[in-house]
Parts: sequence; C-alpha cells; structure tokens
Amino acid sequence: MHFYCERCKKEYPVAAHAYMCGCGGLFRLYQTPLDAAERPAPVTLGETETPLLPLMIDGHRFYFKMEDRQPTGSFKDRGAKRLIGMLAHLGIGRVAVDSAGNAGAAVAAYAAAAGIACRVYVPDDISPERLRQISAYGAEVVRVPNGRMNAGCVLRAELGGDYYASHIYNPLFADGIAGMAEEIYHQLGDTVPDYIFVPVGNGSLLLGLYRGFAAIGRLPRFIGVQSAQCAPVVRAFRSLPETQHRSTVAETIRVCAPARMEDILTALRRSGGTAIAVEDSEILKAARRLNHRGIYAELTAAAALAGARSFFADGMPDNYRVVIPVPGSGLKR
Ligand SMILES: [Zn+2]
Repeated sequence: MHFYCERCKKEYPVAAHAYMCGCGGLFRLYQTPLDAAERPAPVTLGETETPLLPLMIDGHRFYFKMEDRQPTGSFKDRGAKRLIGMLAHLGIGRVAVDSAGNAGAAVAAYAAAAGIACRVYVPDDISPERLRQISAYGAEVVRVPNGRMNAGCVLRAELGGDYYASHIYNPLFADGIAGMAEEIYHQLGDTVPDYIFVPVGNGSLLLGLYRGFAAIGRLPRFIGVQSAQCAPVVRAFRSLPETQHRSTVAETIRVCAPARMEDILTALRRSGGTAIAVEDSEILKAARRLNHRGIYAELTAAAALAGARSFFADGMPDNYRVVIPVPGSGLKR
C-alpha cells in the first residue's frame, strides 16, 4: 500500500510526512485487494453498524443513515479509525489535524485510544461544545482566528515533525468512510439507492461514499447540498461566478474553497447527480421537522433534507430509495 500523486504519479509511503506531492498534486491511495483484506489490528472504540432509519416526511419515504451513533458522534469516526489504526501500526507517535469540530473530535479520540499525541487546530468561533469534546480527549487545542480555512493554513505552517492526520488530504480517511456505502447497500437488501443527498463542505462524506459505491460497482445519484450562504461547489458545478461567502447555521459545511473541488465535481457528474443550495431558513425549518420526529441531528442533516424537499418539490416516485446521511449529533451545538 502507498500513496501516489494524482498529477505526476510519484509514489510516497503512507508513513511519509509529506501530505501532498512536491508538484502540488494531491495524494491518492494505491492498495491491492490483499492490502484491503489484511488490515492491521484496528484501534477501536466499539463501533457498530449505524441504523438506516426509514421515515415518512410529507408522504415521501426517506432513509436516514444515523451516523450520530458513532463513538464521538459523527461519521468522521470511520475515517479516523482507519487512518489512526494504520498510523499506530506504522509507529507514528504524534499527529495534528485542522477541523471545524467533527474530524478534530474523531482524530483526538482515536489517537487517545492508540496512545498517539494529538494537536487540533480549530477556528476560534467553534462552538463551546465541540471545543470541550476535543479537549476532553486530551488533545492540545490551537484556536486560530479568521475562519476554518485559516486553521488549515496555520496548521500546515506549524506542522513540524507531526504527521498530518488530515481528513481532506490523507486518502486513508476517505477509505474508512467508504465502509458506510457497504452498510447502506446491505441495509437496502443488496441494492444501491437511487439518490443520496449529501451535505458538502470539504467533501469527505461525498468522496468516501463515492469510493465505497464505486467499489460495489454501481453509483447512486449524488446530490451535493450546500447552504446558499457558502456554496462554492454549487457555483463551480453550474459554472456560476464566485460570490462572497457568508456564515451559515450549518457550520461544519462552511468551507469556501474545498481542496478536493475537482474530485467533488467528478463524483457528482459521474453519478449523474447535481449540486444544489438551500437557504438557512429552509435548513432551520427542516431541522424542526427532524426534531419533531425525535431526531436531534447536526444541521447539515437538515440541509440535506431541505435539499431533498426542494429537489422533489414536484413529487417523488414511490419506488425511489432516497438516503439522507445524518453526519453528526445535534448535541454538539
Ligand atoms: Zn506530483
């Protein structure tokens, strides 16, 4: 198993401290079927398959993939488990990651379980609940002003000898998230859903699911959903001019320039999907719908539901299987 540059194809060992190629290309993962089968002894926090919960909303059936049941409360645990498990196997002793909250908590928790020291760079307007959770796992927290993107810039400048356990740059993270596709497939009786509405920030959920369904051999149509307040993927997908990015209630998808934009656009296009933006007022309305059905989800799940409601505004065929991942728990904010 190794990483290779998507542009010049140069190979890098997984233990290398480079997080992208000298030529500026991003890493991809090369693994043989044997690599995939013979995984190192996993670092575990007792993960289980998460439920796929069918709910009728306004006469339409949606399947909610309840990733809030993961050990730290978000789907990022899948990626952290895979990445930290491999780093522990390789004897890496120190990691750093930048995050709006979910990835930071996931990496901090699995690093704690593996006995790996962890530093997490967060934007200084992070919610107090998210900050408390990351600190509680024993990670050193560095608060950075001027937004989520800047937290990443400062981390990369200060990385030193730490391994960059990035949920964006490190391909092992997406490889871990890919396992969610397999669960959904089995939970739907070995069929691929017709649509998956995916909230998109940095794209780690979308790219993980894309990888997983590609391995199964058939793609659902992926509909990327963003807040109209910050919708760079929607604008790029539709070749619209850039606009000012503003803050949104869906704080974990507030990413104004995703590093893997090209991969995101490719995943949406190859699946026959699209990208749509929803207003924050619609996100809050959808959140109340979920809350009143007993689901206390992160607002990104409400964004995806709002996106599905607007996409199927003229009706949705009864036989469609439409999946909406619930990326994280509402308890974090
Ligand atoms: Zn290169």
